[in-house]
Amino acid sequence: MNAQEHIDLINHFSAHNYHPYPVVLAEGEGVWVKDVEGKRYLDMLAAYSAVNFGHRHPALIAAAKAQLDKITLTSRAFHNDQLGPFCRDLAQLCGMETVLPMNTGAEGVETAIKLARKWGYEKKGVPGNEAVILVCDGNFHGRTITIVSFSTDDQARGGFGPYTPGFKVIPYGDADALEAAITDRVVGFLFEPVQGEAGVVFPQDGYIKKVREICTRKNVLMIADEIQSGLGRTGKTFACDHENVKPDVYILGKALGGGIMPISAVVSSHDIFSVIRPGDHGSTFGGNPLATAIAREVIRLLRTGEFQTNATKLGKVLFDELTAARLPAVKEIRSRGLWAGIVVDTKFGNGRHFGEKLMANGLLCKETHENTIRLAPPLCISESDLGFALERLKKVLNPN
Ligand SMILES: *Cc1c(COP(=O)(O)O)cnc(C)c1O
Repeated sequence: MNAQEHIDLINHFSAHNYHPYPVVLAEGEGVWVKDVEGKRYLDMLAAYSAVNFGHRHPALIAAAKAQLDKITLTSRAFHNDQLGPFCRDLAQLCGMETVLPMNTGAEGVETAIKLARKWGYEKKGVPGNEAVILVCDGNFHGRTITIVSFSTDDQARGGFGPYTPGFKVIPYGDADALEAAITDRVVGFLFEPVQGEAGVVFPQDGYIKKVREICTRKNVLMIADEIQSGLGRTGKTFACDHENVKPDVYILGKALGGGIMPISAVVSSHDIFSVIRPGDHGSTFGGNPLATAIAREVIRLLRTGEFQTNATKLGKVLFDELTAARLPAVKEIRSRGLWAGIVVDTKFGNGRHFGEKLMANGLLCKETHENTIRLAPPLCISESDLGFALERLKKVLNPN
């Protein structure tokens, strides 16, 4: 079948909950993907950072294949021989103690919310059913009913009520607003150290440190959703590392599964997790041996530090070259590591317009919030492949 025939099938038989670019991918290797007609593209989205190590990284594929020949699913009714080592390795990578594995990012967020509420009732002494979790304006934490209940995006939220109570939205990047919003009912502050879906938005330097100080002083759990910002993307293992801060709770996902299996995890301390007892929470596929075998290899790759180093080094090249080019269609560039949000001047077209032009030039990326082009290539990208991307970006973003 050709591309159009595939797209027709999707239009006919799939729910229309996405508006994908008109390209039908069939193969991928490293930073490159190929469509059904054999055309090659450089993947500058990396499945929203789920493919941080590139498509089909040989070590990850080897781990998956080896595990496929042993056992793939046991449920948590029994132990399996991958889960223990995975939990140990991930706890150590995070500098924490306890891991609760789930599958998708949204489930990880839901898990962290349950954890914070129960901790609030049992450890902080908040009266039953009165816990409040503070979240930020512009947040993206997933798509479940509870999570969209505290979204500030009308499209994500609209039409899905009634909504889950127990959340309060405060401005992002404003430590004073956080301090002012904390009452004796507040059990946690859930935030993204970098707001990815909002358009790669960074808080001011020092914000994460202030959040840490306030949460400690007020006995509120600092819950960092590092599903997209974590695991090397910004040039450090965690975005919180840029301010040498450890939150109380990490939520991880996306890249943890090596682009092969969905796996997410909530990572915290023994003490905080002591409120979760057998039967309180779980998932049939959570912690399955196939996903955890792959995730262990992901952790091994991260331990070398090579991906973080490459993200720092080539992220600087990306930012410096795009800035120096003074491209007429570019209003602002925000970036850290290999993660950039390029705000385009709508005088020349919106984000989608430029995304489609970049695609025609062999680069796949995705706009977010109308006028921001988000760049997040696999962290294994080489300098010459980045050069290819820069050449196309400079051409397309110079419409004169
Ligand atoms: C992608 C994402 C999620 C949701 O993950 P899913 O696997 O799509 O459910 C949550 N938080 C952040 C910051 C994300 O980027």
